[in-house]
Amino acid sequence: MADPELVDVVVVGLGVGGEEVAGRLAEAGLSVVGVERDLVGGECPYWGCVPSKMMIRAANAIAEARRVDGLAGTAEVRPDWAPVAKRIREEATDTWDDTVAVQRFTGKGGRFVRGTARLDGPGRVRVGERVFQARHGIVLGTGTRPSVPPVDGLADTPYWTNRQAIEVEELPESLLVLGGGAIGLELAQVFARFGVRVTVVEALDRVLAVEEPEASEVAAAALRADGVEIHTGVRAERVSHDGRGFTLHAAGGARFTAERLLVVTGRRAHLDELGLDTVGVDAGRRYLAVDDRLHVTEGIWAVGDVTGEGAFTHVAMYQAGIVVADLLDHARRAAGGPDPSGTASATGGASGTTGVRGSTGAVPRADYRALPRVTFTDPEVGAVGLTESQARERGVNVQVGLARLPSSARGWIHKAGNEGFVKLVADADQGVLIGATSVGPAGGEVLSGLAVAVHAAVPLARLRQMIYAYPTFHRTIEDALRNMS
Ligand SMILES: Cc1cc2nc3c(=O)[nH]c(=O)nc-3n(C[C@H](O)[C@H](O)[C@H](O)COP(=O)(O)OP(=O)(O)OC[C@H]3O[C@@H](n4cnc5c(N)ncnc54)[C@H](O)[C@@H]3O)c2cc1C
Repeated sequence: MADPELVDVVVVGLGVGGEEVAGRLAEAGLSVVGVERDLVGGECPYWGCVPSKMMIRAANAIAEARRVDGLAGTAEVRPDWAPVAKRIREEATDTWDDTVAVQRFTGKGGRFVRGTARLDGPGRVRVGERVFQARHGIVLGTGTRPSVPPVDGLADTPYWTNRQAIEVEELPESLLVLGGGAIGLELAQVFARFGVRVTVVEALDRVLAVEEPEASEVAAAALRADGVEIHTGVRAERVSHDGRGFTLHAAGGARFTAERLLVVTGRRAHLDELGLDTVGVDAGRRYLAVDDRLHVTEGIWAVGDVTGEGAFTHVAMYQAGIVVADLLDHARRAAGGPDPSGTASATGGASGTTGVRGSTGAVPRADYRALPRVTFTDPEVGAVGLTESQARERGVNVQVGLARLPSSARGWIHKAGNEGFVKLVADADQGVLIGATSVGPAGGEVLSGLAVAVHAAVPLARLRQMIYAYPTFHRTIEDALRNMS
């Protein structure tokens, strides 16, 4: 076996989070090895956010064109999947080739290694026969993979995950979507708008179950208006495939059939593959437990979906900023530089004398109180912080305000496609918002003001005194404040 190669940092998994950490540490002057077994950039650019939002953009253009009738004359729409598939292939993913992404990383000074990495004792990472010894730390950004439920027969069928749904060149005639969460609803609506007969089957009693019940209702109604069949409270018991199509047998005897089956029932981190036992970390958990600086254990940090703090690209990027600051802090201290956190005595040496570049500001702590999330259905479902029921479960003295978009000036003007609402959840004792939901044609954008209010704990009294531009969708926030009780 070869001797370990000594480097400053090893980053395992170059998805959104890992690539950001590895690139920024390399730019700061550290020697960084980044290991990726699949494509640099991870799920988001190749099979997630970016291509799915391109699909949604196209599907929404179809829906808008269909709204011309009654508003602006008539429009004939003939959906065609070919330009969508081409755009995903050529503009989003380079036909699922990461050459540019690898160059982006090596151009910052990082060293790229293609392969599957495992921890191999404290400070060590093994990739095949190669072993790297990390002087300052190891960062695990290994993400998640689709979690497929243990339904009888399912594993033996050619079901789709998000990957096949994103890569599809020719649409099926019909599609069964198992799972009514954000990804399931986004893809169901896209395919329905392109003429696919879509059926969504969800085990819980409502779709988008993690969000406010009012949001579930609006989203379900919108999908049904697009022709999607939605069945909630249905537990899949058995799946079969006869060479031409799928049959899903549900508890109670119901049967659903379709040419294709898309399984989007959540995602899972595969901790058992990471060699965590060699560093004394429990691999039996669902996610890697981290503290507010994303530490897993001595010398190991984690970033992104694998931490279970929110499976979003913006969470991975946010965490990456903290990991970078903390690792640079460690590196500087190890080199005898100043202590930017102020928690240890400075031993002399100005920034720059250590060879490590970058900010010497205090290392921020992760705070997920104002975590925003958007489901990009039409209407969009934006949410931040706690839902009403989450707040009540925590014993908060809750105040709620809700205002519907169609009754607002802008909603009334907008007419076709104006479904939505703003719902506010406040801590009445503190007089601040602790959660909010904004559903509507620009629900994700209206969310930004609400996220600022939750993040900065802006007093309700100040929000009520603000001037809201007329006639915007976000003016509904003022209506919801007025309706609070
Ligand atoms: C269909 C879909 C739509 C989405 N839409 C959105 C959206 O609109 N907005 C949003 O914020 N989020 C969205 N997401 C979620 C987003 O894609 C993830 O939150 C994000 O990709 C997480 O980044 P990550 O770096 O944690 O993990 P990943 O992107 O999963 O990257 C992890 C990487 O680690 C590699 N890896 C794993 N184990 C090893 C190993 N042992 N050795 C070497 N490499 C390894 C993997 O190959 C992978 O490339 C969507 C996801 C899906 C599936």
